[in-house]
Amino acid sequence: MPDLRDLYQEVIFDHNKRPRNFRAIEGATRTVEGYNPLCGDKLTVYLLLDDDGVIRDVSFQGTGCAISVASASLMTESVKGKTAAEAEALFNGFHDLIMNERTDAGTQLGKLTVLSGVREYPARVKCATLAWHTLHTALRDEGATATTE
Ligand code: ZN
Repeated sequence: MPDLRDLYQEVIFDHNKRPRNFRAIEGATRTVEGYNPLCGDKLTVYLLLDDDGVIRDVSFQGTGCAISVASASLMTESVKGKTAAEAEALFNGFHDLIMNERTDAGTQLGKLTVLSGVREYPARVKCATLAWHTLHTALRDEGATATTE
């Protein structure tokens, strides 16, 4: 059995090295920039919503630390094809996972649980949630820039 922590680190490393959905979307419904001043992570989330509020496509571009890029990559994989409400529910579960000691959230979160170790590093929590805060802003159409502050 490989050590779970090593496995998690491998997934994070892989998503940082080869981020999924790392591109712009032509004709995106919404484009929102996210910024984490604490670490300097900067990314843009592109969202393509259909008339029923389903996320048809989601992508991101930007620069940041390994955690922020890996988390953004995992986020895009997790919410594609979901409704805005389902994506928000995932965000809440993910937030719980890395802020609290909850273990029951793991079942719905799937691959996102690889980031659970972040809770031991409070300074990195904002790196891990940046893409999600940005997605949240995009879904609510609250403006062009999201920050973790
Ligand atoms: Zn960071």
